[in-house]
Amino acid sequence: AEEVGGDDKEVVREYFNNSGFQRWKKIYGETDDVNRVQKDIRLGHSKTVENAITMLTDDGSLRGVTVCDAGCGTGSLSIPLAKEGAIVTATDISAAMVAEAQKQAEEQLLAGKDDLSPAPVMPKFEVKDLESLDGKYHTVVCLDVLIHYPQSKADGMIAHLASLAENRLILSFAPKTFYYDILKRIGELFPGPSKATRAYLHSEADVERALQKVGWKINKKGLITTQFYFAKLVEAVPA
Ligand code: SAM
Repeated sequence: AEEVGGDDKEVVREYFNNSGFQRWKKIYGETDDVNRVQKDIRLGHSKTVENAITMLTDDGSLRGVTVCDAGCGTGSLSIPLAKEGAIVTATDISAAMVAEAQKQAEEQLLAGKDDLSPAPVMPKFEVKDLESLDGKYHTVVCLDVLIHYPQSKADGMIAHLASLAENRLILSFAPKTFYYDILKRIGELFPGPSKATRAYLHSEADVERALQKVGWKINKKGLITTQFYFAKLVEAVPA
């Protein structure tokens, strides 16, 4: 059943500027004040970031390559991409996330730099929802964002992201598989305070169809699972 009005995005923005920001900053960080589940999600997410970087660097160096990181969060991907020499544009709907990403990038990219290696180009961070992004990028990446939107919205988001990408689009989403569907249903019977937003699962076939509609095809894919984290990672290219 589609329980969505037009306000998903406002709910998501509000969440990621407040309790969601606190929760995810912790999960994406390195501090010890995380519980077992959060620690597991941290591990799963770090694998997604790692796999995305592998996909991105498989085709050659990122030096000078323009990359748009849509829904950048605290910069978990943007910062390592800048270290690889990419020219990163990083945007997020949440001002709190963007401020944190900027702070971490300054700490990690500028501080303690030796004079020997070339200075990385700081990512350009901006508060912007991905629907209002424009311009053209060699590569567009969007990790773990589609989970906040039903497929009906995700289709348009995927089409828009593809329109910004010249060469490739990398997406991750929570896969709608039989097993995970069941887990999620069980989860919905016991909603905790941390589940302030709905989680939407997407089937690979639906994502593939959304890409096909705009003339793109899946080129590579991977699956990342830990105990509590599930993500399908796909690289799409113009068909
Ligand atoms: N991509 C980052 C990563 O993998 O580390 C962050 C993932 S986090 C689960 C989801 C992020 O998507 C949040 O920072 C949230 O603010 C952002 N977001 C949600 N909806 C968005 C939208 N419509 N446009 C841009 N960002 C959005």
